[in-house]
Amino acid sequence: MTDEFKTLQKFDAGSGHQGLLHSLPALEEQGVGKISRLPVSIRIVLESVLRNCDGKKVRPKDVETLANWNAKAPANEEIPFVVARIVLQDFTGVPLVVDLAAMRSAVKRLGDDPKIIEPLVPVDLVVDHSVQVDFFGSAKALQLNLEMEFKRNRERYQFLKWGQQAFKTFQLIPPGIGIVHQVNLEYLAKGVLSKKSEGRGHEAEIFYPDTLVGTDSHTTMINGLGVVGWGVGGIEAEAGMLGQPVYFLTPEVVGVHMKGQLREGVTATDLVLHVTQLLRAQKVVGKFVEFYGEGAALLPVPDRATIGNMSPEYGATMGYFPVDQESINYLRATGRSDEECRAFENYFRAQNMFGMPRKGEIDYSVDVDLDLADVEPSVAGPKRPQDRINLPELGRTFRALLEQPVQDGGYGKKNVDLREKHLVQLNGSAPRDRAMASTDEVDQGINPGDERNKIEMVANRPTPDTGKDIEAASSEMFTHGQSRIGHGSVLIAAITSCTNTSNPSVMIAAGLLAKKAVERGLLIDPAVKTSLAPGSRIVSDYLDKTGLQKYLDQLGFNLVGYGCTTCIGNSGPLHPNIEKAIHEFDLVAASVLSGNRNFEARVHQHIKANFLMSPPLVVAFALAGRVHIDLSREPIGKDKHGKETFLRDLWPSLSEIRETMQSALRPETFRKLYRDFADQNPKWNEIPASTGDIYQWDEKSDYIHEPPFFENFSMEPGHVEEIRGARALGIFGDSVTTDHISPAGAIKATSPAGEYLVSRGIAPSDFNSYGSRRGNDLVMTRGTFANVRIKNLMVPGTEGGVTKYFGAAGKLPVPRGEQMSIFDAATKYAETKTPLIIFAGHEYGAGSSRDWAAKGTRLLGVRAVVAASFERIHRSNLVGMGVLPLQFLDGTSAQSLGLDGSEIFSITGLSDKVRPGHRATLEIQGKDGKSRSVPAKLRIDTPIEIDYYRHGGILPFVLRQLLGR
Ligand code: SF4
Repeated sequence: MTDEFKTLQKFDAGSGHQGLLHSLPALEEQGVGKISRLPVSIRIVLESVLRNCDGKKVRPKDVETLANWNAKAPANEEIPFVVARIVLQDFTGVPLVVDLAAMRSAVKRLGDDPKIIEPLVPVDLVVDHSVQVDFFGSAKALQLNLEMEFKRNRERYQFLKWGQQAFKTFQLIPPGIGIVHQVNLEYLAKGVLSKKSEGRGHEAEIFYPDTLVGTDSHTTMINGLGVVGWGVGGIEAEAGMLGQPVYFLTPEVVGVHMKGQLREGVTATDLVLHVTQLLRAQKVVGKFVEFYGEGAALLPVPDRATIGNMSPEYGATMGYFPVDQESINYLRATGRSDEECRAFENYFRAQNMFGMPRKGEIDYSVDVDLDLADVEPSVAGPKRPQDRINLPELGRTFRALLEQPVQDGGYGKKNVDLREKHLVQLNGSAPRDRAMASTDEVDQGINPGDERNKIEMVANRPTPDTGKDIEAASSEMFTHGQSRIGHGSVLIAAITSCTNTSNPSVMIAAGLLAKKAVERGLLIDPAVKTSLAPGSRIVSDYLDKTGLQKYLDQLGFNLVGYGCTTCIGNSGPLHPNIEKAIHEFDLVAASVLSGNRNFEARVHQHIKANFLMSPPLVVAFALAGRVHIDLSREPIGKDKHGKETFLRDLWPSLSEIRETMQSALRPETFRKLYRDFADQNPKWNEIPASTGDIYQWDEKSDYIHEPPFFENFSMEPGHVEEIRGARALGIFGDSVTTDHISPAGAIKATSPAGEYLVSRGIAPSDFNSYGSRRGNDLVMTRGTFANVRIKNLMVPGTEGGVTKYFGAAGKLPVPRGEQMSIFDAATKYAETKTPLIIFAGHEYGAGSSRDWAAKGTRLLGVRAVVAASFERIHRSNLVGMGVLPLQFLDGTSAQSLGLDGSEIFSITGLSDKVRPGHRATLEIQGKDGKSRSVPAKLRIDTPIEIDYYRHGGILPFVLRQLLGR
């Protein structure tokens, strides 16, 4: 137990026992800094720095620097932040466990003890990203989707079960339980943690704030509970697990003072869309945001968590709410023990950090005011979460975007007549009882991707009580199984994403709206793929208890799974005739979802316009069937008497929502549902798992493969060297997301990854998604830059992962460039050891944290990425994989330089002496043989990153440290 600043003090931890803490008030008394004026989020990080100050990894200077954080001019210093725990979801968690397994194999080959590779902080992995909406609109959808999930992911799950037994500090929450951030909020987070430690001559219990990083951008949802944490790349999380601090630069903290209250009819989703737009405009990228004031104090924790969740969308590292009585109330209401609640409250009181700060009490870098009464019902889209649209404006905005030129963000259609619809047959020859098929049929290889099954699901959607019996109505739907679709038709309506499903008020509002719609006999068009995927079984419990689920069912919003589904792009296929019509008539069709992301091709490859909105609005737009509508004035549909029904007729009042909620949420339910996970999932128990410290890699597996990161590993690190004779592998514009770089969704049969899988004897119907194959570098490297929507400006007019191959630098005559896939070109360049460069515009690597976006880049042979600007996590992941990020200086871009990819490039001015922010030179030799050069800034931002880069990335760096001990 270290106590460099002599700040260790006793405090009343509740339940009759005393604990110890590293006291921030005591540090302030020593004159180390004006700590009580620091933002609460900074104080929590400071506590970690103080507690872990050992003079080596964390130095006294680090404590002093942070304690003297200057709001208006934060020192540009890196903070070594040792987090209390780590959370993972399965898409990012599997490759992380694969890397740990590969490290163990490497250590064994070097003759050392593989067990030196072990997480040093608790790690929780929640399997939530794998379930896909293959079945919907049926009472059997949950079970059938789960069956499919296990069938598709068996190898991965076997591997995870190996990991569960091989690593001591690793807890796994199996599929079918919930979504990582909701499970974190409802169960994993404890507020404060404690550790037994030797000190003062006896065993002592040291308490410290719960802090974490997670391998998912929306880890920030936990900020709503007063827990400091954010998303990092898998690579940084790995380093954190292996005892490395997470390094970041002292941030600015934007204080958002909230006052007032949300008005009737305005939801937490509307609020977060408002906040996203407000803070995007404030340019909060790389900053902490702290919400405070009397308005914040009145927000319940689920509303705060919704706002915290979307901090990646407004660009902040965190969207933090300080701990107050609401935080304690939430812990109590969700079944946390009395002891935990007391320790949480007493700890924060003892640290002088309890209670929502008021204006003027804290010094923030930037002050922003937000009157909650200004928030309006809204949606956001169709391509970016920050593009908020007031609800009445949606129809007009959509119409305008349809005809707006593509280069201005529109869809470039001419003379659109929105009344024009195309007939789509949905009946076909599907077997009538497919929805009720036994689960055995799934195991026998019936492909749920076969669209006939979807037809059946639609056909069997139970209908509202319209006076007809369900069978007859269903039969009518079936025999009249057709729809008319056009631009703006809603084809996916998904109540999805932990952003909103963790918030009972909006989920209950969706149920109440469904109830009123059913009572009036409103119907949803069969072309709309409806789904409900909550982030935990708690939601089902309260929707069942309140009797609301049955109304959602009757509209087709049956439970499809407890997982991310549409939020991660696992929306499943649409009816083939619908896809055909979209293609044939080049339709700009719409999805409506309660998620947080709507980048192109994220929700579904065929849906171009994606609107984020609250769960009740998802139900409303599903009923309306189109997005070119003003729901504040136009009717949503006709009731069973043919009378026009408006949104206002269906919208539940705040008091209705509150009353319903109070009757349904019980702490005992949380306690009951959050225990003995394996027992609650027999399918998980049936999966056989190997045992032992070393994983037995199986060459036959196409899910799990030993990555080449430690091939030819030696104890000697490399050097920072100039890059010469390089070729461009891709030139991209602005806002290339990690999903463009490393897609998570479907694998196209004609893509390099698809062709590779086919060559391994795998049928396209069994491809599964890229996300699920992240344990296999051979698939993922082929999938890098393979998003169907990525546009490589080297091959104008094309989409998808294509480039031009120009041969090794210096080859004469200068080749014209042969068009081929990016993977094939990279493979050919590797034969001549030609280094590769990616050029990009602004916000390169925006979107979800995705380690494969950096790993795949590295494995393709890319040595540097030169961009106008980088997203925070992706930039650090590139460094973490030993790829050099370089930033053009103001105004310069690949376009302004007129690059077409035929040039030969060198990056000079690099040596072991470089420091963060160093200016290097990009030398460009055109095909006319003339050379020019431009300066570019090294985006290696911290001293430790120089070390990572020199070592070829974090993993070799950590391995050398562990082996060198
Ligand atoms: S639901 Fe969406 S935001 Fe939540 S963990 Fe899943 S993918 Fe991330």
